[in-house]
Amino acid sequence: MNTIDKTQAHITPTYNRLSVVMEKAEGCHLYDTSGKGYLDFTAGIGVNALGYNHPKWVNATQSQLTALQHISNIYYTKPSADVAETLCTRTGMKHVLFVNSGAESNEVAIKAARKYGHQQNKDKHKILTLKNSFHGRTVTTLAATGQDVFHQYFDPFTESFDYVEANNISDLMNKADPTVCAIMIEVIQGEGGVIPLEPAFIEAIDQLCRQQDMLLIIDEVQTGIGRTGKLFAYEHFGLQPDIVTSAKGLGNGLPIGAILFGEKVKGTLEAGDHGSTFGGNPVAAAGATVVLDELSEAFLEKVLEKGSYLKEKLEALDAVESVSGMGLMLGVTFKQANAKAVMLEAMEEGLLFLTAKDKLRLLPPLIIDQASLDEAVSCLAHILAEKMQEVTK
Ligand SMILES: *Cc1c(COP(=O)(O)O)cnc(C)c1O
Repeated sequence: MNTIDKTQAHITPTYNRLSVVMEKAEGCHLYDTSGKGYLDFTAGIGVNALGYNHPKWVNATQSQLTALQHISNIYYTKPSADVAETLCTRTGMKHVLFVNSGAESNEVAIKAARKYGHQQNKDKHKILTLKNSFHGRTVTTLAATGQDVFHQYFDPFTESFDYVEANNISDLMNKADPTVCAIMIEVIQGEGGVIPLEPAFIEAIDQLCRQQDMLLIIDEVQTGIGRTGKLFAYEHFGLQPDIVTSAKGLGNGLPIGAILFGEKVKGTLEAGDHGSTFGGNPVAAAGATVVLDELSEAFLEKVLEKGSYLKEKLEALDAVESVSGMGLMLGVTFKQANAKAVMLEAMEEGLLFLTAKDKLRLLPPLIIDQASLDEAVSCLAHILAEKMQEVTK
């Protein structure tokens, strides 16, 4: 059986896959089993921040792989300590806990917020999230996700979540009752369609959290690790959150998740409150050390520049209605064309994009060069001019 047939026969079909079998990659290019090359604007959904086969990352993970692959967290290991120290130094956060994914990071953030609330008052357990948010696929993070489509089949869900309409300050004030222990937001909704929150709304959340001793949790699973041109996207808004969750780009290809705790909550979780067999795995952490090293201020500055350049070029296309997002996390709305059809046509032409709701979503590796940005824009321009019939709604 070939790979596609074997997958369909034996892997549970929870993904709508595209009919291509990927085999290898280098830099910002992927190659399928027929040898066809693709310029990658997906980065494994925001994971491969340094692209594929980044020499320093490969070197660090390979050396760690032949030294110590895994050991229980009942012992100390250097790589996770290094990553935690760097994350704290660069953010002002105080402690880090390592897990394996974005959902697990958010799950831990929710546990910490619940415990923090519980210690003040047993009824302070509600967590406000936003409508159209996305926080993960476990039962509790699905409950946290403010989209009805995710609230089918798996009920009863974890209780005590409520959903505020994004950018609606009066809805926020109405729902912020004394049982709320935390507010959890993505500053740019990713899966929801690359939608940045309005600064005034973010500021209202921040103030409310300070006034009523609610924890401010920022889900940076997609927006973090340089994606928007800052180490974490909340930095654009001058926030100092209580909890930050990270995963995707921190791993750059190996599974890792991290929860950063600020001063107020650094002592909340204690021995026995959470554990994860693979959490802080030395190989994944050795890779994360390189990711953070590479994301210097100069590197982040370039991500911002490349993002503005790309946004400007896309906005200049006749068929484009608007471009949302920051840095190298962009969403394109077309006047006529259907984003999914554009994505499929682009794949034929050797260019990989994502979609998010009705937008074309661009999450290229952060190391992408200007020539590749130009290549993507001219390929899109060509599709939107020559293939308009094929890609129109
Ligand atoms: C991808 C994502 C998650 C879930 O991460 P997993 O590693 O797939 O569990 C959570 N929150 C946001 C904002 C995400 O983009």
